[in-house]
Amino acid sequence: AKHVYTFGAGEAEGKADMKNLLGGKGANLAEMNLIGVPVPPGFTITTEVCTMYNEQGKEATFNLIKPEVEAAVALVEKLTGTEFGSKENPCLMSVRSGARASMPGMMDTVLNLGMNDDAVEGIAKKSGNPRFAWDSYRRFVQMYGDVVMEMKPASKEEIDPFEEIIEGLKEEKGIALDTEFTTDDLKELVNRFKAAVKKVTGKDFPTDPWEQLWGSVAAVFNSWNNDRAILYRRLEQIPDEWGTAVNVQAMVFGNMGSNSGTGVCFTRDAATGEDIFNGEYLIDAQGEDVVAGIRTPQEVTLEGSRRWAALQNVSEEDRASKYPSLEEAMPEMYAQLNTVQQKLEDHYSDMQDIEFTIQEGKLWMLQTRNGKRTGAAMVKIAMDMLNEGRIDEKTALKRIDAAKLDELLHPVFDTAAMKSANVLAKGLPASPGAATGQVVFFADEANKYPESVLVRVETSPEDLEGMHIAKGILTARGGMTSHAAVVARGMGKCCVSGAGSVKINYKTRVMTIDGNEFHEGDWISLNGSTGEVYEGKVATMDPDMSGDFGKVMDLAEKFTRMKVRTNADTPNDAKVARDFGAQGIGLCRTEHMFFEGERIKAMREMILAKTEEARRKALDKLLPFQREDFEGILEAMEGYGVTIRLLDPPLHEFVPHEEANQKEMATEMGITVEEVKALVEDLHEFNPMLGHRGCRLGNTYPEITEMQARAIIEAAVNLKQKGVDARPEIMVPLIGTVKELKLQADIIHATAKKVFEEKGATVDYMVGTMIEIPRAAVTADKVAEVAEFFSFGTNDLTQMTFGYSRDDAGKFLPIYIEKGILKNDPFQVLDQEGVGQVVKMGVEKGRSTKPNLKVGICGEHGGEPSSVMFCDSVGMDYVSCSPYRVPIARVAAAQANL
Ligand code: ADP
Ligand code: MG
Ligand code: MG
Repeated sequence: AKHVYTFGAGEAEGKADMKNLLGGKGANLAEMNLIGVPVPPGFTITTEVCTMYNEQGKEATFNLIKPEVEAAVALVEKLTGTEFGSKENPCLMSVRSGARASMPGMMDTVLNLGMNDDAVEGIAKKSGNPRFAWDSYRRFVQMYGDVVMEMKPASKEEIDPFEEIIEGLKEEKGIALDTEFTTDDLKELVNRFKAAVKKVTGKDFPTDPWEQLWGSVAAVFNSWNNDRAILYRRLEQIPDEWGTAVNVQAMVFGNMGSNSGTGVCFTRDAATGEDIFNGEYLIDAQGEDVVAGIRTPQEVTLEGSRRWAALQNVSEEDRASKYPSLEEAMPEMYAQLNTVQQKLEDHYSDMQDIEFTIQEGKLWMLQTRNGKRTGAAMVKIAMDMLNEGRIDEKTALKRIDAAKLDELLHPVFDTAAMKSANVLAKGLPASPGAATGQVVFFADEANKYPESVLVRVETSPEDLEGMHIAKGILTARGGMTSHAAVVARGMGKCCVSGAGSVKINYKTRVMTIDGNEFHEGDWISLNGSTGEVYEGKVATMDPDMSGDFGKVMDLAEKFTRMKVRTNADTPNDAKVARDFGAQGIGLCRTEHMFFEGERIKAMREMILAKTEEARRKALDKLLPFQREDFEGILEAMEGYGVTIRLLDPPLHEFVPHEEANQKEMATEMGITVEEVKALVEDLHEFNPMLGHRGCRLGNTYPEITEMQARAIIEAAVNLKQKGVDARPEIMVPLIGTVKELKLQADIIHATAKKVFEEKGATVDYMVGTMIEIPRAAVTADKVAEVAEFFSFGTNDLTQMTFGYSRDDAGKFLPIYIEKGILKNDPFQVLDQEGVGQVVKMGVEKGRSTKPNLKVGICGEHGGEPSSVMFCDSVGMDYVSCSPYRVPIARVAAAQANL
């Protein structure tokens, strides 16, 4: 097999659709060569080699690929006219990671590889620029020392030893910026760096370029398994087995003086989706300088630069002289970049995130990928590209990451409240949204408050988990392409970056803005769409669901086979879901209705009752309440089916367990506290989830089922008489045998008949069951002889198939996921291999005796995209989920059918 793929000078052995083998970066470097975009030559070591490296170890793997790597290096030498390891004319390289899915900043990169005491002289002479040569050398020692010799401190509290040396020398020299170092200063840095390497690792800094190369390749493979890469994969659901490719590439230099530079740009706005070319760059800089937030990056376009200056209160004069756009500073380079960005977007038909470097007036592309974007930008770009005729409807729909729609469904700041809010500071609108929370200054303390806002000078990849937990992120430094901004947009998290007036003291945990102090725990609000930071909590309102979002929903409707229903217990929830496009209710839980005011009293009276007669008396009191509730919800879902589940939870949930509440109940019911206690004791179960609940209640107390059936049917008849099209579907929970269902169905039908006679009118209704006990699924052919519909209750079905208690799984599931025993929490993502097979069997067996059996799902999984797709594949008629997940489910349902 081939392990190394070369590219350069308009040719390439790989191409864009080889991402699995070459990683995203490698595949696109190859593709850019093929379409005539200037890319420094190089080669990609495949992801398969990474897997081999992890399984068979370094030595065996490197021995195997050595001849191919040497041949590839020879090609790079030929194309660049340089020589790897030469004294006079050395070839310098970059070694970069690159997985199938982009994992920005998570793994390691080594630049300027090939440097040593000889090479630096050769470079200095050849370029006539000793300062540049030594700057590259000191960067190399630092990166190689950090990454390959593992000198980068594990904890972010410790300062990088090389940064410490840099700061020390700056102090000695009385300078503020890296760019002020003289050539001699840079030489001094190299010496001090090497001494530090020796001191910390006990080893000499390697001078042999081949040793440097293999060391770096190994480091990149190792970085696949560093903590932050592992965490990122878990958050983004990227499989551990994929591995990373390694890209080795000739260096181009952005640090050769004022006619050189480096930058990052987006072909459209990654925050809003607007078709505006934008980006940031730095003159005389290399590699990660732009993203690192050490120097203030400048805007690529003039328009962007003016917008930035307005937000930062920088005068036009200052802007033009100190922070000119690339468009002004290097118009020719800008024109070329603009042509290339358009070419790349045209070629990929998607928004691109592009890295470029300018070396002495020549433009080079170092990377392109489909840019990370917010949910809003995702929707806008997909719909715009559809309108522009770049992609077809199916492609547009596929571009929607259903789970990401969630960002669009949540509140935004109330316009009126925003106007009167006290603006503390203004930064860049790095990632839109509204966030309110209590200030924390350290990522690992983001969970200190239920709602926190993470405030940092700048974030780093180590902060990932905390950024995930926090409601929003505020940074004092860094631009639109800073780590915080890029990661926040990827997560859909509200972020304001580069708010220059925010001064942070991590020691005292105080942030100062214009002389006012804010402490840890103080409330602030962030507007990620305007970059404003407000004092305290600012009120929010519902987002706008029309426009492009509406168009996505129309597309979903066009391509879907399955319907989407909602789980709703109140008319209001039903209405919200209906506005999101829900067509019916898949689960209405009746027990929630028993907790309000008078109802709970009647409920407790029923539980206390010793005879059927006494129970019926109490149930008679509940009947009107239930009927009223059902009228409300059936009316709100007029024209669509409403599945109402009969009483499900164990009765102990309705009695008080705390002393004070027991006293209250005793007074209310006119009994002694001892009697209440005895009752609670009596209802106690060792294993309530497997105890006296579900249809076991209805089968031991048939009068409960009778009352509920009566309330439902009466409600439907009443509505019908008002001209409302009510369609009740009565669902019996937790059956394991057909007989359990049969007895309940008999009661329901008998009750309905009685009501019809009393009212002199009839309605259509259905009786079905929830499939949530494995036995019910296994005997589904028999169950379907009685049931008119099945609804898979996958929460309980997962609980009983795995034998994991839903309420206790929190203790071990995280560990199971960490150890790889489980890929996901099976209560969130349907376990297709196990629970899914039980579902599949249930559907097939059920339809074997009743071909037109209506089948749906009503567990939490009904709103999770991969589970929704599974439901489509087993032929379900609908999925049902909570109101705010309805749009997500609709898109996933349509995608399942593309
Ligand atoms: P990441 O995946 O974290 O973005 P990259 O592999 O893209 O890491 O490398 C980081 C940065 O290093 C790039 O943005 C680019 O500026 C710089 N870089 C990488 N390769 C080269 C090269 N051949 N010449 C010049 N700079 C490079
Ligand atoms: Mg990159
Ligand atoms: Mg259940």
